[in-house]
Amino acid sequence: MAGSPRDCPCFSGQRYVACCAPFHRGEREAETPVLLMRSRYAAFALGLGEYLVRTLSRDHADLDLPRVALIRELSQARERQRFMDLRILHEETGEREGQVMFFARIFERGVDGSFVEVSQFLREGPGWRYASGVLVPKVDLPAPLEALTPADIFGLRTRE
Ligand SMILES: [Zn+2]
Repeated sequence: MAGSPRDCPCFSGQRYVACCAPFHRGEREAETPVLLMRSRYAAFALGLGEYLVRTLSRDHADLDLPRVALIRELSQARERQRFMDLRILHEETGEREGQVMFFARIFERGVDGSFVEVSQFLREGPGWRYASGVLVPKVDLPAPLEALTPADIFGLRTRE
């Protein structure tokens, strides 16, 4: 890939070629929900809208949108946002379902737009796909990152 970064934008500390690039190129399927999650974060940072659409669960609501426009919109997130760090806080992997809670450090036009999300993943065919996510902005978090549980994030949602 022309213009590929040296270090993986998923903040694994690995080289991009040895980390998320094989997923992005379609050479490999992510073997766990965490790997898929990381590769999607990196895809946002790199503007790989097609990969982001390809890794949506078949029932994801975004798939009802016109595909070309959706790919374009996802590819352009990097023009507004800077993807500055990713920390996996919690993960659970079952046979067909997985859950990942992560902290994404993101700045949008100079404003801190960081958040914690609990993402749900489903195994569909050969790989994991992104089904849904519940997101809480950093300013609204009820506890420090180290102390957060997925229940805290879901609890905030039900109080809305
Ligand atoms: Zn990576």
